Amino acid sequence: MLADRDRIFTNLYGFQDWGLKAAQARGDWDDTKALIARGQDAIIEEVKASGLRGRGGAGFPTGLKWSFMPKESRDGRPSFLVINADESEPGSCKDREIIRHDPHKLIEGALVAGFAMRARAAYIYIRGEYIREAETLQKAIDEAYAAGLIGKNASKSGYDFDVFMHRGAGAYICGEETAMIESLEGKKGQPRLKPPFPAGAGLYGCPTTVNNVESIAVVPTILRRGAAWFSSFGRENNKGTKLFQISGHVEKPCVVEEAMSIPFRELIEKHCGGIAGGWDNLLAVIPGGSSVPLVPAAQIMDAPMDFDGLKDVGSGLGTAAVIVMDKSTDIVRAISRISYFYKHESCGQCTPCREGTGWMWRMMERLRTGDAAIEEIDMLQQVTKQVEGHTICALGDAAAWPIQGLIKHFRPELERRIHEHNAQFAPEYGVAAE
Ligand code: NAD
Ligand code: SF4
Repeated sequence: MLADRDRIFTNLYGFQDWGLKAAQARGDWDDTKALIARGQDAIIEEVKASGLRGRGGAGFPTGLKWSFMPKESRDGRPSFLVINADESEPGSCKDREIIRHDPHKLIEGALVAGFAMRARAAYIYIRGEYIREAETLQKAIDEAYAAGLIGKNASKSGYDFDVFMHRGAGAYICGEETAMIESLEGKKGQPRLKPPFPAGAGLYGCPTTVNNVESIAVVPTILRRGAAWFSSFGRENNKGTKLFQISGHVEKPCVVEEAMSIPFRELIEKHCGGIAGGWDNLLAVIPGGSSVPLVPAAQIMDAPMDFDGLKDVGSGLGTAAVIVMDKSTDIVRAISRISYFYKHESCGQCTPCREGTGWMWRMMERLRTGDAAIEEIDMLQQVTKQVEGHTICALGDAAAWPIQGLIKHFRPELERRIHEHNAQFAPEYGVAAE
């Protein structure tokens, strides 16, 4: 278990004040000028050496992403950092806790990361539903300005750096980085085709890097304690500490910082008091937010909770939002509800997603009630394959994968429902199916 002294988020549970003085007492903003004085290249190299991978879900190496930003301004254009606080993935609530209780880690991180990538300003795009969190964040930004920590000659470093907060309006798709950029520009939040990636053409056509809240908030601590310290947690390719958000059928749901690669069973035993009703009662887990496939109980028990460990069991770390489902769960209904979510949140821009998410949800509903033919299971699988990989952004994949996981692991349950329904309402089909 991660020792208290190794936790980055020392106020995750809000036992102390989030304000500037208390944050400084916990070590935030401690000689930030010296961190900046190390220089852009040194900061990027340290972050690369730490092994930090993006905490928003995709796991792209953070230092590498920063290194794509131009060293010289083209045509006098500024560069920007955009911080993704539009946390909307079902099950995810870690960025909310950081903003509620440790907002100064994020603001200091914005300055240091922004400096490293030669950004003129950071825009923090916060989801519209985070009303109180937005108030806290704005107060923290104001405090940092008033203390000279950001703004002109930020932290007496000689570097000018602004931080702006922008509130979203409730669209999940605005969490996709290019849709977020469109939204910040005042347009309808719809993803752009990539490439070009934002470092080439981002906000207002300027070089931009979009990073998740957690990815940015850990940076000052990595610089202070060193890349070797951060990379001492986890394993090759899966380094550092990570915020896990555990919900569902555990004794004590929680958000907790742990070492990357902690085995699933240990994570749940140590921090959640076990599975409600005992380990025999575990049915399945969605380990990384609703965009990744579920994993049946037997396969996840010893899985390391990291990018590679969860890939090996056919799923992914995603945002590390661990949704635990016990045997009382109607698993078909749960996945059907997730399908509805993606249908509702599709921006409608590309046909496979706009039409496919509707098809998938309607077919899932038929399977939920059992009012379907056996062949429709394979038909649904084919529809998911038509959507996966054929869309502008990852929402199409995210809509397809949970269904694929259900069919892969729970086909007998889908068949049982169809047989039962047909036996009751259309006996001729029920008998034939037997
Ligand atoms: P992605 O793999 O397309 O990109 C990840 C990041 O790496 C982006 O910033 C992208 O610009 C950069 N990148 C990737 N390839 C690059 C290249 N060749 N050159 C330069 N930069 C490159 O993934 P994505 O669509 O940004 O994110 C998908 C993930 O988001 C999913 O895994 C899901 O878990 C997660 N997600 C999170 C939330 C949330 O609330 N935090 C919501 C929805 C989805
Ligand atoms: Fe919009 Fe869906 Fe296409 Fe993404 S995949 S751009 S959400 S229609």
